[in-house]
Amino acid sequence: FIELSGIEKSYSNHHVLKGIDLDVEKHQVVTLIGASGSGKSTLLRCINALETIDSGTVSVDGDVVSGPGVDLDRLRRKVGMVFQSFNLFPHMTVEDNIAVGPVRLLGEDPDAALRRARELLERVNLAHRARYYPDQLSGGQQQRVAIVRAIAMRPEALLLDEITSALDPELVAEVLNIVRDLARDGMTMILATHEMQFAREVSDVVVFLEQGKLLEKGPPEQIFGEPKEERTRAFLKQII
Ligand code: ATP
Ligand code: MG
Repeated sequence: FIELSGIEKSYSNHHVLKGIDLDVEKHQVVTLIGASGSGKSTLLRCINALETIDSGTVSVDGDVVSGPGVDLDRLRRKVGMVFQSFNLFPHMTVEDNIAVGPVRLLGEDPDAALRRARELLERVNLAHRARYYPDQLSGGQQQRVAIVRAIAMRPEALLLDEITSALDPELVAEVLNIVRDLARDGMTMILATHEMQFAREVSDVVVFLEQGKLLEKGPPEQIFGEPKEERTRAFLKQII
C-alpha cells in the first residue's frame, strides 16, 4: 500500500537517507527502530511529503506521491501523521480540534463532525473531556486526542513518530493501548519508536535503520530473537 523505492535524502552535505526500499501492505504495522539520528523521523516525513526527497519514489495506493505536481491535500487525507509533540490547536476545545479537519477539509456537516468527534473520544475514554482545552489535559490525554484527530480524517494509513516519548512513563500505556486497538482494527501504520517491548508486540515487520540505511527487516520474533546483522544485535543489546 505504501511503497518506498530508492529513497535518498540529504540536508546540505549530510546524507541522511541512503537508498531506502520498503513495501508496507494494507493492514500491516511496520515499526522503524534504530539509534537517534538514524533517519526514522526523516523517513516518515518523506512519506508524507513534509520533506522533499532527492531521488527515489514514494507511492501510496499505487499513486506516486513524491516529486512535483503532487496533490498534498489528497496525500495527507490518505496518510495521517501524529508527532511526538501533540500539536493540538490551543485555542480550540478538544472536540473542535477533532471536528475542524473533517469540516474544513472533507466538507462534513459540522454537527455530524462533532457527534463523530464525541464518539471517537468515547472510544479512547475521553468523552468527559470533549469541552476542555488542550492545556487542561495531561500529556497522555493530549496525545490520545491527537491520535483521534488524525483518525477523524478517515485516513487509510497512519504514520506515528515517537508518540510516547514526550510522556511521563505512567502515561505511556494509555497511548500504546490505542495504537494496539488501531492495529487490531486493521489500520495500516508505520511507526518510529524506542519502545522495544511494544514494537515486538504490535508489529508485523520491524525495520532496523542504521545511518540512513535499511540494514535489516523481518518479523519481530526474528529481529529481536535472532537478528541476522551483528550491528542490529549490538543496537538491541545496548538498549534493552
Ligand atoms: P531520533 O531517534 O532521535 O528521533 P531519528 O532516527 O528520527 O532520531 P532523524 O530526525 O530522522 O533521526 O535525523 C536523521 C539525521 O538528519 C540527523 O543526523 C539529523 O541531525 C539530521 N536532520 C534531521 N532533520 C534535519 C534538518 N531539518 N536539517 C538538517 N539536518 C537534519
Ligand atoms: Mg525521530
